[in-house]
Amino acid sequence: MTVLVVNSGSSTVKYQLLDPAAGQRIAGGLVERIGEAGSTAPDHGAAMDQVAEQLADAGYDLREATDLTAIGHRIVHGGERFTAATVIDAGVLAAIRDLVPLAPLHNPGGIAGIEAMRAIRPDVPHVAVFDTAFHHGLPPRAATYALPAELAREHQIRRYGFHGTSYAWVSARAAEVLGRPLAGLAMIVLHLGNGASAAAILGGKPVDTSMGLTPLEGLVMGTRSGDVDPAVVFHLHRVAGLDPGEAETLLTAKSGLLGLCGDNDVREVTRRADEGDPDAILALDVYCYRIRKYVGAYLAAMGRLDAVVFTAGVGEHSARIRAQSLAGLEGLGITIHHGHNEQHRTVISPSGSAVAVLVVPTDEELQIARETLAALKN
Ligand code: ADP
Repeated sequence: MTVLVVNSGSSTVKYQLLDPAAGQRIAGGLVERIGEAGSTAPDHGAAMDQVAEQLADAGYDLREATDLTAIGHRIVHGGERFTAATVIDAGVLAAIRDLVPLAPLHNPGGIAGIEAMRAIRPDVPHVAVFDTAFHHGLPPRAATYALPAELAREHQIRRYGFHGTSYAWVSARAAEVLGRPLAGLAMIVLHLGNGASAAAILGGKPVDTSMGLTPLEGLVMGTRSGDVDPAVVFHLHRVAGLDPGEAETLLTAKSGLLGLCGDNDVREVTRRADEGDPDAILALDVYCYRIRKYVGAYLAAMGRLDAVVFTAGVGEHSARIRAQSLAGLEGLGITIHHGHNEQHRTVISPSGSAVAVLVVPTDEELQIARETLAALKN
């Protein structure tokens, strides 16, 4: 049994062919620059043809393979309707399309990817796996913005939360590492990649998460501001003449680490900070301080804490960010063993700590593959 996992963005398609039962990766790759001038992939249809060619080079005939059980598509926004992975039919595709206003930067690529893959394999089930689904049970007090209630309901304005596939995988793995049932654990998971978010997870269920209506809210990210006073947008409109589209581009693509210091890759920012570059030092300070504030907030939200878990590109690889983010929290029982941290061990808190601090690699593709199979049984 194999599952093809497809993650289609507006200009990229990432894919992995997996054997979910064995947890094995058979092949994988990437098509970039879709639709850009001079690209070999003018649209998602051409990009999926390239996926098929790449898989053929790896010895897998995507168009004819009989062992292909299903194709799982990562979809960023599932709105209020999609609370779990869902087999795609015309109605589901229309519903994902209806959600485009909530995720104009993310859902269109996913939709184009579904259509292009269905053209290649109309005979196998296609499943949509939503980044928002994990958070669907967020308590109303965490999901609700203090806006006029009727307006918010009418336009579905609420906190949705993202990176749910990663949270599902990482929280389950963290429980395995700790050797305790997930049901009894209070954990804060820090998903720090290009996009970054935090989640408070109690007994495997979401209590709160830092991304909101869109993936813009919360932590400082590579190019996204995370939390700012919403009045910044109105102020920029008045003093600099920015229209809403320009303000959106500013906050999503030109802010975060990139805006603070001119680089969005934590490796480069760290290198510059090590050389004493003041912009890079401040950028890392702002980035880590924001994480620390969320850790404190989520400890308060849950009232207790068993583990802080780092994951994704930055969380898995940057000992410096991990140490700087949690520095000064010893009074809350959160301590890092610096030697273990530098060695990127799984457990980076000293033995006997009140709160375990873990580094757990995420595997969104394998989680999507497993949820894809689970959706077929529903
Ligand atoms: P995405 O959000 O695109 O899935 P990842 O989770 O792969 O991204 O994270 C990518 C980011 O991880 C990079 O932009 C980079 O900042 C960071 N990163 C990767 N490796 C390292 C490293 N060794 N040290 C610090 N940061 C790293």
